[in-house]
This record gives sequence, structure tokens and C-alpha cells, in this order.
Amino acid sequence: MAQGRCGIGDGRVTADRYAWMDAALCAQADPEAWTETGPGHGSRQPKRICGECPVRPDCTAHANRLEAVDGAMTGIWGGASQQQRRVTRRQMGEAA
Ligand code: SF4
Repeated sequence: MAQGRCGIGDGRVTADRYAWMDAALCAQADPEAWTETGPGHGSRQPKRICGECPVRPDCTAHANRLEAVDGAMTGIWGGASQQQRRVTRRQMGEAA
């Protein structure tokens, strides 16, 4: 099995762990919209959709888990850019 950006196929994850993705609103849209092309370049629409997504907390937790293991990931996850996730993690680390 090929290893995608979500980690499927690398032995660390199972299909159950990804059940929440069935309700992901981005699965009903062009996935290219969730890639980052630079500050302010077309991220408003996907972030708006993320704001209405019922699995946003799962998505955010998923991105944080993968970035903790694999390092920074590109793209918008849970309505946040790579830089926004980095800032949030830094702030949470400082609060702990
Ligand atoms: S919160 Fe995550 S799963 Fe939902 S639309 Fe945004 S990127 Fe997709």
C-alpha cells in the first residue's frame, strides 16, 4: 500500500482511526483548495468550509499527531495553515 500524507499504509494507523473522514466536508470539494500556495492565496474559502465541518476537532487532532511524528505538513487542516498550527502548538506548549 502506498503511503499518503495522512499516514495510511505506514503501519501506524488503521482504517478505524480514519472513520471521521467520511464526514469531512473537504471530501466533497476540490482537494487542491486545501493546499497552501502562499499567505492569503485562496485560503479563505477552504477555511470557511473548515469552519462548518463537523469533524474539525478530529481533523485538527489528526494533523497535530502527524506533525508531532513526521514534522510539518503543508496544507490547511482543521481550518489552520501550517504556520497557524505551529503558532498554536507553541502557545499551547507555553501554557502547559
Ligand atoms: S476541518 Fe479538516 S476534514 Fe473538515 S473540511 Fe477542513 S480540512 Fe477537511
